[in-house]
Amino acid sequence: MHKRITLSFAVIAVLTIVLGSPFAIVAQTPPHYDLLLKGGHVIDPANHIDEVRDVAVLQGKIAAVEKNIPADQAGKVVDVSKLYVTPGFIDIHYHVGHGGAPLNWFTPEARAHALPLGIPADMALQSGVTTIVDAGTAGAETFLEEKEEVIDRAKVRVLAFLNIVANGMGGGLEGSLDQMDSRLCAATITRYRDIIVGVKTAHYWTKEPWDAEHVPWAAVDRAIECGTLANVPVMYDFWPRPDRTYEDLLKKMRPGDIHTHVFAQQFPIILADGKINPALAEARARGVIFDVGHGAGSFWFRSAVPAFKQGFIPDSISTDLHTGDYNVLSMDNVMSKFLAMGAPLDDVIRRSTVNPAAEIHRPELGTLSVGKDADIAVLELIKGHFSYIDCGVAKMDANERLVGRMTIRAGRILYDPAGLSMVDWEKARPQYFSSPERGDSLPARADDYPRD
Ligand SMILES: [Zn+2]
Repeated sequence: MHKRITLSFAVIAVLTIVLGSPFAIVAQTPPHYDLLLKGGHVIDPANHIDEVRDVAVLQGKIAAVEKNIPADQAGKVVDVSKLYVTPGFIDIHYHVGHGGAPLNWFTPEARAHALPLGIPADMALQSGVTTIVDAGTAGAETFLEEKEEVIDRAKVRVLAFLNIVANGMGGGLEGSLDQMDSRLCAATITRYRDIIVGVKTAHYWTKEPWDAEHVPWAAVDRAIECGTLANVPVMYDFWPRPDRTYEDLLKKMRPGDIHTHVFAQQFPIILADGKINPALAEARARGVIFDVGHGAGSFWFRSAVPAFKQGFIPDSISTDLHTGDYNVLSMDNVMSKFLAMGAPLDDVIRRSTVNPAAEIHRPELGTLSVGKDADIAVLELIKGHFSYIDCGVAKMDANERLVGRMTIRAGRILYDPAGLSMVDWEKARPQYFSSPERGDSLPARADDYPRD
């Protein structure tokens, strides 16, 4: 068998020399793409692209990002001129699933009756997001439920930080030390390493008096222990107290660890003299990561604007969307706030794509590199009069708004509410006008492009 294969290669080699390369014949055939986004302004910070280019997709992957790809080379062509085309956004602070769930839910002795914390994962697609990272809604005990009910069924890619609290977030057990088993946490991460990218600590003993069990750093220390055992970053939601200062937290954080909610009211980002706290620069120099995690209670312009003016911008932009959060609305809303403060568009895109990809150690995400999954956002930058709000019920006026217009995940058009990729209904093919009479009837759709 081995000899026969060797012989076959020898024959091909001889024929190649005599007749010319068979691959040359393949190269002469026009390449055929499934989808071509034509005429958009491509911003792909990972590849230093910031100009008008066409983007071609084949079999769910990015196939070409070039100038003037002929329209006849693609099965479907979408005119995206006057729009921006970027890698799909990565929102590393999102909440899906139930969260801390009581055992024996329907019995009187259930230990809590918390409402669900998470929102539908696929809502993220409405603002150009193709990857969300659940920020510790589930812990070791509740992760499998979240995975089977939400993560495995979502169209958007869902990754997760695992809560150091085994029961997860919001179920009433976030102050229970017996819930913070760093070995169980690390074992769960190891088992689901394809999904879990880090550890989360949050909401630990924010105002109750300390006692023998509840010492100031218990939750943070155990999260770091789990992160070290599993070799993943820790994401911190934190509340400083006199015995547990902000500066001490920043010193405890390891390089690559992520401080989310950086512009929340409880952090002394801006000191009394109006200068930015030097502890931030010291932490950043050691490799500590700063993330927005806007949420219902973690973004104040009074911190964000002076910090921005002094050159401090968080490494990643994220929403912290959950069921208590409908004023934040979306990733494009949070990104628009940074445009309003004066950040250039390409920088805002960088902090929503390649940066968060690096933070969660998934460098294959957040780019339009050829061969990677075709996760693409098509965006419009609208000029006009807009206002953006913070969590202190104050607002900022602005003249731009970034809006997600179309979202593509692995080559599938999952969000296109204005029909950029669709034909006028009157020009649709005949089967669109038919009512399906039998199970095997052709679908009454204007095209066959995958959209779900
Ligand atoms: Zn959160």
